[in-house]
Amino acid sequence: MTKQYAFFVDAKRCIGCFTCAMACKNQYHQEPGVHWRQVYPLNEEIYPHRERAFYSLACNHCENPTCANVCPVKAYYKREEDGVVVHEQDKCIGCGNCIRSCPYGAPRYNPVLKKAEKCSFCYQRLDAGLKPACVQSCPVEALQIVDLAEFDNPNAVQYPAGFPRFTKLNPSVRFILPEQPRMVTRSDV
Ligand code: SF4
Ligand code: SF4
Repeated sequence: MTKQYAFFVDAKRCIGCFTCAMACKNQYHQEPGVHWRQVYPLNEEIYPHRERAFYSLACNHCENPTCANVCPVKAYYKREEDGVVVHEQDKCIGCGNCIRSCPYGAPRYNPVLKKAEKCSFCYQRLDAGLKPACVQSCPVEALQIVDLAEFDNPNAVQYPAGFPRFTKLNPSVRFILPEQPRMVTRSDV
């Protein structure tokens, strides 16, 4: 397998502080209401516990990105060196095909520029030897970069409960599931 960067989302560590989403927003001066990265609390069917658990999500830099396939002006490309899916906004005509086609809701609409935009893994930072802004900012190292060509963590999962399973896209993201709540029984009290 060739190099494929992926976000590694450790829900055991994440405290839901939103620092990653804010670092992303600041880095790219995202318009009010536009978030390329979001932090989602898991709903009670998935995580029935009063202390909440979270997944921090953005573009998954899929192996087969549907965004690139549906774009009529080839505003997307996948980098050969690391598998990052880049959106070139200067080419974008704002048709919305990518926004409608991505099952992970990663491309967002910029209402000022009237174009799409999304996480491009901070590829300019990568090229300068830096981590993406979200990864750099996380105070508890709940968000990391891994190379799936070498990644071998038996506890990591690709499709946790609640995360859409689109195997044809093969999203480049891996999760550590949150700690399961301890069930208290009568004998414990
Ligand atoms: S998550 Fe959506 S926007 Fe990102 S590469 Fe996959 S299809 Fe494209
Ligand atoms: S910065 Fe880290 S701990 Fe805070 S929400 Fe993002 S991933 Fe979770």
